[in-house]
Amino acid sequence: MASQGRDNWLSARGLKTLVDPVCRAWRRVVLYGHSKTSQAWNPVTDEQFPSPLPTARVIPRAEHPISRASISDNALKVLYRLKNAGYQAYLVGGGVRDLFLGREPKDFDVATDAHPEDVRELFRNCRLIGRRFRLAHVHFGREIIEVATFRALHDPATSDDSDDVKIEDGRVLRDNVYGTVEEDAMRRDFTINSLYYNIADFSILDFADGMPDLESGVLRLIGDPEARYREDAVRMLRAVRFAAKLGFRIHDDTAKPIPDMAVTLEHIPQARLFEEVLKLLMAGQGVATYQLLRRYGLFRQLFPETEAALASEASMVPSWERFIMRSIENTDQRVSEGKPVTPAFLFAALLWPAIMQRMDRGDEITEPLEPELLQEAVSDALVVQLQRVALPKRFSIPLREMLLLQPRLERPKGKRAKRLLGHPRFRAAYDFLLLRAEAGEVSDSLAKLWTDMQASGENRTAEGSMEDPPQRRRRRRRRRPGPEA
Ligand code: ATP
Ligand code: MG
Repeated sequence: MASQGRDNWLSARGLKTLVDPVCRAWRRVVLYGHSKTSQAWNPVTDEQFPSPLPTARVIPRAEHPISRASISDNALKVLYRLKNAGYQAYLVGGGVRDLFLGREPKDFDVATDAHPEDVRELFRNCRLIGRRFRLAHVHFGREIIEVATFRALHDPATSDDSDDVKIEDGRVLRDNVYGTVEEDAMRRDFTINSLYYNIADFSILDFADGMPDLESGVLRLIGDPEARYREDAVRMLRAVRFAAKLGFRIHDDTAKPIPDMAVTLEHIPQARLFEEVLKLLMAGQGVATYQLLRRYGLFRQLFPETEAALASEASMVPSWERFIMRSIENTDQRVSEGKPVTPAFLFAALLWPAIMQRMDRGDEITEPLEPELLQEAVSDALVVQLQRVALPKRFSIPLREMLLLQPRLERPKGKRAKRLLGHPRFRAAYDFLLLRAEAGEVSDSLAKLWTDMQASGENRTAEGSMEDPPQRRRRRRRRRPGPEA
């Protein structure tokens, strides 16, 4: 029964042909024991299982470039402690992929057959997160090593016939949630993300032909692409993210369904999409990623009104395309220089064409903005945008403030203008004005005026002769001498 259920599940996802040889391999390992050397996977020694025999390829240490010296000490600590306690322990995902490519991994993920509770027993600094599928986070100061137990292919949460989590005597039971390393490998998204670095012998296990793809720069989903996107639409975003980050080509079969299936992103919670947008556009490869997002029709799912404004770009002044490209280029540049970047600024830039479209300024585009109309357009555009991608208040509030300063920057007169220099959002609003000037929306002379004003303000402050300080210093009240003084 269970095996039939599994087969149906696999067929539905187009994984059956891929998984079957792998699962035979697993049965073989269970029956014959797991030898410590890669020979355990050698098909020639086994007559029980006719060919084609197990496809898990073992790449011994001598044949790959990943050295322990490039793995974080904390990840090594976790791997070794699991191994010494008798569990399987692998470095997996981006850690293996990026090290192989000679890049610095963003984080290190560990996969193991130890259950989350077992992991917690081993590490004092461990927290379990997630309800349906629990993960162990092992904390080392600011570094977190995520330890995931192998996932089963037959996931109760995605099948029709079984409950997700059963509660019995207050104890949470998770039947069939955990699986084998082979099953775990098939559940991962791309072949290049499904390589397992084995701490027991420093070999790499390749269950999905990830190594040839890694070597030839190809991004390919495991299994049937449509089925995999249907399971989780975020994989489409991950495809363009990795393609841009690594400079990889998306395999035709993996790329083909994206334009038609992009619309299914609407089922993804807004908060998850916010996290994804940050990884897409604020990780240093924003420009390349943005271009791919547009090419595959994904951008319109994330920022529909912006896409509409870009599409309706009748006159080329201002050029919204240029405006957005410049804002993402700026972000990439700051990331590469190690400067801080904030989603408030990026989202403001991405929304601006939509806000201007709402104001329908037509030929008056170069006239100063009307503050009340702007306020209304910002609010309305945010309401629509937040239905797609969440933006926490700590970012939407400064975003709004920065945009609402634009009309004031467009009227740089008198003492008020000088006072604006001391406004907490002035700097961001000024940077935003520069972008608008680059796109031809406001004049260069206006931008220059503010640049000069700041420079002279800074000089005068430096000289201590600012004639109109933004805030008068409060005179300190002299304390009356207390009785004991
Ligand atoms: P990076 O950390 O550089 O963004 P990564 O590949 O490590 O890249 P993570 O989001 O850290 O990405 O996920 C770790 C691994 O978990 C992935 O490499 C992949 O094997 C698996 N994974 C993550 N998200 C998915 C998903 N949506 N579907 C299937 N597998 C996934
Ligand atoms: Mg990772």
